[in-house]
This record gives sequence, C-alpha cells and structure tokens, in this order.
Amino acid sequence: MSLSGKVAVVTGGGSGIGRAICVRLARDGAAVSIWDLNGEAASETAGMIEDAGSRAICCVGDASAAEQIASNAETTRDALGCIQILVNNAGISDFCRFQDITAENLSRILDVNVKGPFYCTQAIIPDMLEAGWGRIVNISSSSAQTGSIAMTHYSASKGAIITFTKSLAKEFAGAGITVNNIPPGFIDTPMLRASPVDVDMQSENSPMGRPGRPDDIAAACAYLVSDDAGYVTGQTIGVNGGRVIL
Ligand code: NAP
Repeated sequence: MSLSGKVAVVTGGGSGIGRAICVRLARDGAAVSIWDLNGEAASETAGMIEDAGSRAICCVGDASAAEQIASNAETTRDALGCIQILVNNAGISDFCRFQDITAENLSRILDVNVKGPFYCTQAIIPDMLEAGWGRIVNISSSSAQTGSIAMTHYSASKGAIITFTKSLAKEFAGAGITVNNIPPGFIDTPMLRASPVDVDMQSENSPMGRPGRPDDIAAACAYLVSDDAGYVTGQTIGVNGGRVIL
C-alpha cells in the first residue's frame, strides 16, 4: 500500500468529504489523526478507519484555534509518530446577502477557512521538513473559481486558500513537500444538505446529472498525497463533474 508507514492529519474528518478522505487514506495504508469539533462523529470515522485495517486517533476541538492545534499535533506525534500528510479540509459555509454579512460572520468564516489551514500547516510543516517528504492538500471550493451569489465571504475565504496553496508550494518545493488544492463543486454531504441549494434541481441541471460523492474528492486527494504525484505542486485540481471547466 502506497501510504504504508505514513501518518496523516485530516481536519474536519468527522463528516462528509473529510470522513471519506480519512477512510481512503487508511485503505491506502496511512495511520490517520482526525481533528474535528464533533467527538462522536470523529469516533465513528475512527471506527471506519480501524475497519479499513489502519490506526486512528481523534483530536476533538476547534482546528482553527492555535493552542488546540499545538496540542493536537503533540497528541498525534505521541500516538502515531511524525506527521507527513496534512489535509486542511475543515470548513464552514454561510449564505447571506452581501449587505447583511456581519463582522462576526466574516471573522468566523476567515478564522475557520483561512487561519485554520494556516496555523495547522505552521504546526505540522516542521515534521515534513525533518522527514524531507510531505504532502499538503487544501480543500478550497469551486465557488472561489467562479464567484457565488450570497457567499462573498465564503468564496473570498476559499480564494485565499488557492493563493495560500500556490505560495506554500513555491516556498517548500525544494524540501520534498508538495502543496495542492482541490476545489470541490456540489458534493453530497451534510454541509450541502443543510444549505439552501435545491440538490435535486441542481442535479438535473448538471452535466453528469448527479451531485458529487465524498469519495470523488477522496480519490483525487489519494493521488495528490501519493508518491506518483511527486512532481505536482501548487495546482488546483477541480473535482466538480464538469460544472466548472476553466
Ligand atoms: P461537512 O459535512 O459540514 O463536514 C465538515 C466537518 O468539519 C464537520 O464534521 C464539522 O464539524 C467539522 N468542522 C467545522 N469547523 C471545524 C473546526 N473549526 N474545527 C474542527 N472541525 C470543524 O462539510 P463538507 O461538505 O464535507 O465540507 C468539507 C470541506 O469541503 C469544507 O472546507 C467545505 O467548505 C468544502 N466544500 C464542500 C463542498 C460541498 O459541495 N460539500 C463544496 C465546496 C467546498 P461540525 O459538524 O460539528 O460543525
């Protein structure tokens, strides 16, 4: 298995896309540390990882809070070893007319969607530098590529993640560390189902006639963290069923 002996951290691994990524990386041989707000959901994912034949631990708390991140990283190293794969997946969305976005909403979106990946990466990159090998995958959004009505704060935060990816990729390309991002589009998860999006109507109007599955994102992530993707860095790999073609 290609990831045998590797330790992966997946933020937001308790649900949707993050859960599918955890299980897929475990099937490919990685031990996985699940960082999520929801302890019960994280434990369920841990059970799925163990069923897939790998090791898992849960770090419950806010993956955008610097102190929590430092403690999660220590707990992960103690339990599983040096961390060489980071998937910055935890995110929150919000639908709101531009004029009605409050300072509080904007701050929370930027904290979770931008500062979280920033601080998680700062906490974990020393492990990758020491190992001389690392893989970082940031989950952005197709709304950052196209813009999205009533999501200016969310799409701006995800746009920042695309630029974050490019700059990190350049800074660490010589250190054996690749950094890429996947902007999902219309993936059937609890986040999508909780949104005002009419999933059936949107499915009918989409090129493939269906929403994406969390496994569709997990498959792209599995490639990006593999040795096969060693010459791929700084890229935006759209997984959206042809809804966004740039
Ligand atoms: P989801 O089903 O809501 O799962 C997100 C998970 O992250 C939840 O378990 C959530 O916990 C956790 N989480 C949220 N904030 C956190 C924090 N501060 N610290 C730790 N854990 C946190 O969402 P999803 O659809 O799988 O989305 C995953 C990522 O894909 C997000 O970054 C999202 O923006 C992006 N994305 C999704 C779509 C889509 O169509 N689904 C499209 C574009 C981009 P709680 O449930 O307790 O909040």
